[in-house]
Amino acid sequence: MQQVPVMRMCISCRKTYDRKDLLKITKDHNEGIMFQKGMGRSAYICNSEKCYSDSKIKKKLQKALKTCLEPEFIEIFEKEITSYNDHSNKGI
Ligand SMILES: [Zn+2]
Repeated sequence: MQQVPVMRMCISCRKTYDRKDLLKITKDHNEGIMFQKGMGRSAYICNSEKCYSDSKIKKKLQKALKTCLEPEFIEIFEKEITSYNDHSNKGI
């Protein structure tokens, strides 16, 4: 049985991708900002360097998540996206 991919839009390039190829950032109701999990308003970013290293990415995320992000966020975000990309490159 084939599964129909769930398509989501990258908030940076505005292209749609299969959800599993995107990094999901969620503003969880209880936990705050979470990556790949959590319940609440979410934004998706594709793994193209142009998108995640965009200097306006924080602004775009704040707008998409309707929240104010901590200055530390970008640091965590960069770590997350790097480990996420390592993962996809290894084909796991
Ligand atoms: Zn993108």
